[in-house]
Amino acid sequence: MSKMFSDCPICKAPQRMEVTTKTEKIPYFGEIMESTILCHECGYKHADTICIEKKDPVRYTLLIEKDNLNARVVKSQSTTITIPELGLKVEPGPQSQGYVSNVEGVLDRFGKAVKTALSWAEDQQTQKNAVKILGCIDEVKNGQKKVTLIVEDPFGHSIIMDDNAQKHELTNQEIQKLKTGFLTFENEELDINGNNNPEE
Ligand SMILES: [Zn+2]
Repeated sequence: MSKMFSDCPICKAPQRMEVTTKTEKIPYFGEIMESTILCHECGYKHADTICIEKKDPVRYTLLIEKDNLNARVVKSQSTTITIPELGLKVEPGPQSQGYVSNVEGVLDRFGKAVKTALSWAEDQQTQKNAVKILGCIDEVKNGQKKVTLIVEDPFGHSIIMDDNAQKHELTNQEIQKLKTGFLTFENEELDINGNNNPEE
């Protein structure tokens, strides 16, 4: 793990941004670098994982069952995660973060996002839907319900590590339908306050 300080691209404070990087070797996948930046002046924070090797665009599909809740999931910033049966989708955007977790952790992140949506929801239908989805997530975790987890990454830096996960190379047409979601520091208009990103 290494730490260094640099100038903050958001508030421009000199040498106040702490950059922490850590590399980790994931079997059958390669080396990844997890990085976290934190500005001690304005509080801006961002985390990401970067796969060091070049990869092909990829989609992993896994039927979530009780015994694969522990399967490791590497999600890069450019990844779209979908659970079609629950109508849940996280697309890359300026607020997306990369992380290393497992299937259960991905479900928990979705659950947290739905809870946030529920606390903001004003109409009854949205509230009903949110409560229903939360119930479904619990059922999936208890093994009472099976749903599909789809991880799509145009840069191939993401993976579901399970023997039953199906790997499929993305076609150009499929890639074009995905959002790429780069975080660019050159862009002065970067929306750091977020736009309801379900990952937050
Ligand atoms: Zn700052």
